[in-house]
This record gives sequence, C-alpha cells and structure tokens, in this order.
Amino acid sequence: MAYDSDNIFAKILRGEIPCKKVYEDDYALAFHDVRPQADIHVLVIPKGEYISNDDFSLSAPEDLIVGFWRAVATVGRELEIVESGYRLLANHGLNAHQTVDHFHVHLFGGHPLGPMLYKVR
Ligand code: 5GP
Repeated sequence: MAYDSDNIFAKILRGEIPCKKVYEDDYALAFHDVRPQADIHVLVIPKGEYISNDDFSLSAPEDLIVGFWRAVATVGRELEIVESGYRLLANHGLNAHQTVDHFHVHLFGGHPLGPMLYKVR
C-alpha cells in the first residue's frame, strides 16, 4: 500500500485543513481529535509520509523516530497529565480499525480510563 498524500492528516500537516493545535516541533504535530473519546484526546503525528507504525519504524530516519516519541512525551507534559496518567494508542490496519492512513498516536487522559481493552465478541 502506497502513502496517499491526500489523507486528512497530510492536509492538516500542510495547513490545508485547520486543527486545534496542542504542540508542534520539527518532528511532530499534535492536535485535538475532532471526535474526542476522552476528556483529553490528542493525536500526535510525525512530519513525514508514513502510513502506520510499521512503515514509520521501518523507513523513518532515526532522528525523526526519536524526535517523534520525544514529542509524544512532551505533549503529555504540556497537557499536565504526567502525574494523573495517560494512555497511548496507535492503530495499524484493518483489525485495529485504522481509519486515517498517516501514522498517528492517540493520547487519552483527563480522568480514569478504565481497563485497556474489552472483548468485542
Ligand atoms: P484511527 O481510527 O485511524 O486510529 O483514528 C483516526 C482519528 O482521527 C479518529 O479518532 C478521528 O476522530 C480523527 N479524525 C478524523 N478526521 C479528523 C479531522 O479532520 N480532524 C481531527 N482533528 N481529527 C480527525
């Protein structure tokens, strides 16, 4: 599968679609999810064309991988939820219900989040 540069997060990165920005540096952009599933629900995306974590881990330069994950942690600190706790989640592919094919990490927090997964069948 090839990266589609018309995906919604590519458009947000290029500034063609607005977002509620939380944080930005040379490696990553973080913004509020448009349909939040927790009081705090932020998406962190790398600045580069990667479909998912599989692609990102295989193909991204090391400085981007390090910079991206540092940015994820920085977002947690900026949101002041390090002490109370937060959850990171990254969907890859169909079974995980990935809907936007630009690698992104969800960051949830702001209240107790309950058990990690529940069985759907
Ligand atoms: P996925 O299921 O691919 O892991 O999550 C994609 C996420 O992107 C969903 O939580 C969805 O609400 C969010 N999303 C989809 N379109 C937009 C958008 O245009 N702006 C923002 N801020 N979030 C979006």
